[in-house]
Amino acid sequence: MRPNRRLALFPGSFDPFTNGHLDLTRRAAVLFDRVIVAVAHNPAKTSLFTPEERVELIGAATRGLANVTAIHFVGLVVDCAQRVGAQAIIRGLRAVSDFEFEFQMALMNRRLSPGLEIAFLMPSQEYTYLNSTLVKEVARHGGRIRGLVPPVVEKALLLKYGRRGRRGRTPR
Ligand code: ADP
Repeated sequence: MRPNRRLALFPGSFDPFTNGHLDLTRRAAVLFDRVIVAVAHNPAKTSLFTPEERVELIGAATRGLANVTAIHFVGLVVDCAQRVGAQAIIRGLRAVSDFEFEFQMALMNRRLSPGLEIAFLMPSQEYTYLNSTLVKEVARHGGRIRGLVPPVVEKALLLKYGRRGRRGRTPR
């Protein structure tokens, strides 16, 4: 078997990694020999978690998936894919609203790197409404985020916002 035969790169902001991202990672991990979740570090964009924190959280959230690892990168996704030797990029499609942007990005990436395939996966229906911004907003105001993010991310969000799950706490 050739090394890295079916390696997929799953790039994104992951600020933070949600159960929607995890759902997609699990699906990709079944289809590919290896999956690298790649945190895009855009110094021009403000983020809640540092790239290192995001990588650590993804590592912890995907601990049960032996063929999944996490890295962070600066620059173009296609360059990162080439560096790691990925044959495909994974992106998620939640609703029609995602399509236009993803289509544009996919065609640009194909132009930049013709040999690289872009595979779109759909999450479980329960995660179609989920995104990192919404989760942060709910967490910031003390709302319940349990079930929307992996437990390790829930803990990190509560710490960031200086809360201990006021309304989200489940009885012991
Ligand atoms: P980006 O800023 O690159 O879109 P995100 O972290 O928002 O980064 O998303 C990374 C990828 O994960 C995107 O392809 C996005 O469509 C997908 N994604 C985001 N949220 C979900 C979700 N709830 N279910 C499935 N896929 C998702």
